[in-house]
Amino acid sequence: MAEEEKAPVKAEKTGKYICPVCGYILKVHTPDEEFRCPLCGCEGKKFEPLPEEEA
Ligand SMILES: [Zn+2]
Repeated sequence: MAEEEKAPVKAEKTGKYICPVCGYILKVHTPDEEFRCPLCGCEGKKFEPLPEEEA
C-alpha cells in the first residue's frame, strides 16, 4: 500500500483566509465583498484560502 503524503490541502477544511497584502489571518468567517482587512483595508474578496497549518 503506497503512502499518500500528497493529500490535497483544501482551505475549506481550515476555514481560514489570509490577506494577500499584509498577511492578516482571518479565522472567524469567510470574507465577503463587504469585508475589509482590519490592518490594511484590503478587500475581503481578495483574501486567499489558507492551507492547513502544520502544527
Ligand atoms: Zn491586510
